[in-house]
Amino acid sequence: MKTAQGIARDVQSGESSATAELENSLSAIGARNEELNIFLYVDEAGARAAALSVDERVAKGENVGPLAGVPIAIKDNMCQTGIPTTCSSKILEGWRPPYNATVIDRLMACGAVPVGKTNLDEFAMGSSTENSAFGPTRNPLDPSRVPGGSSGGSAAAVAANMTPLALGSDTGGSIRQPAALCGLVGMKPSYGLVSRYGLIAFASSLDQIGPLSKTVTDAAMLLEAIAGHDPMDSTSLPEPSPSLVAHVNDGVAGKRVALVRELVEGADDDVVASVNRAVAALKDAGATIVELSIPEFRLGLSAYYLIAPAEASSNLARYDGVRFGLRVNGEDVAAMNEATRTAGFGAEVKRRIMLGTYALSAGYFDAYYGQALKVRTQMIDAFKRAYQQADLLIGATTPSVAFAFGSKTSDPMAMYLSDVFTIPTNLAGEAAVSVPFGTGEAGLPVGVQLLGPGRSEAQLFAAARVLELAEGRP
Ligand code: GLN
Repeated sequence: MKTAQGIARDVQSGESSATAELENSLSAIGARNEELNIFLYVDEAGARAAALSVDERVAKGENVGPLAGVPIAIKDNMCQTGIPTTCSSKILEGWRPPYNATVIDRLMACGAVPVGKTNLDEFAMGSSTENSAFGPTRNPLDPSRVPGGSSGGSAAAVAANMTPLALGSDTGGSIRQPAALCGLVGMKPSYGLVSRYGLIAFASSLDQIGPLSKTVTDAAMLLEAIAGHDPMDSTSLPEPSPSLVAHVNDGVAGKRVALVRELVEGADDDVVASVNRAVAALKDAGATIVELSIPEFRLGLSAYYLIAPAEASSNLARYDGVRFGLRVNGEDVAAMNEATRTAGFGAEVKRRIMLGTYALSAGYFDAYYGQALKVRTQMIDAFKRAYQQADLLIGATTPSVAFAFGSKTSDPMAMYLSDVFTIPTNLAGEAAVSVPFGTGEAGLPVGVQLLGPGRSEAQLFAAARVLELAEGRP
């Protein structure tokens, strides 16, 4: 499949058309969606109308925008007017949002063509897309394995050549981990860089929308299109979208890159070998390599599994059978609320709501949630100290390559450990990218993670591009 950059160029020049590119995308979806369960909804009519309007504007000589005619997949936790938005939960079945998420408006303003909504772990809680109420998504590279999660459908859409771009959301690793397992580039931007308006909230202090793509330049193009201040999100950073594409070839000469011991600890040998080779490639490109230990990273998982469920228990209180989607009747309002939530939420979501409610309850607040917030502050300080010694950090994205279906479903802790290397970035509100580098067990892709301070996206893409070139990718 062509890159987003290639499609936009060809559509704008008249060499191709948005309509033709969309039809390619729709036939790729038609060919494998039943097998892989990637799209929960394909908006054929809406996408065709959007593509036609791009073609009409090109015919009139207009400059349509940097993503002219590029088909894009949208994780099904982002609102699009009139399009079913489920969060892969039965509780939202049938609900159609009356407004667009800011990211959707921005994509359309750049000429992109949203083709449909992709599967995820229910309410983005999970690391394998096995928690979806609508069945799991399969990894296109090996359908006996998971694509990762929670943005597993978005990652699989790109890996299966259905769309060159996809949007995911990352609360504890949900863009980077599936990117790693599907052989893609995936970035978690700095907190506040991308508007969360219209992203259905999981843990509001951690959630960020970001890009998934096959190439670094495509990811940079997509992030540039969606980033920048939005008055509709009070946590949105006050500045315009940064210049990213212009810097992808800046390289790493003179940069200090720290290999972090805790970001490879416990990872499989094939993963560690790829990280070591990536370090060598950055060194060859002129970076100075140091080694660091950041022991606070070991506390990330425990703090995250108090903070994220605590916020989720509050955010998910709104699904009460009154305002959205499903309603199961009961004798009185309380019974209706209970019956609706019992029938509408899956096991993992219920587990998180119970964990979060417990952590926040009077008498336990100081012991759990309060402690977790202190750890979060320590994490922020630890990153600050690390960035005095290095410009960027490097480690693994995930402990292993894509794993088999069912191998972690009966043990929540084993599943939670999939995000042990990605969670610290979310807690600190900083940026990180996963870039495919080499292969491991069964020839499956390995993701290497590059981490940087807030607003370091341009530097991260430049370093990721060095690795892409070192792998011989154009
Ligand atoms: N896997 C992690 C969780 O289950 C992260 C999810 C995410 O980033 N949305 O919470």
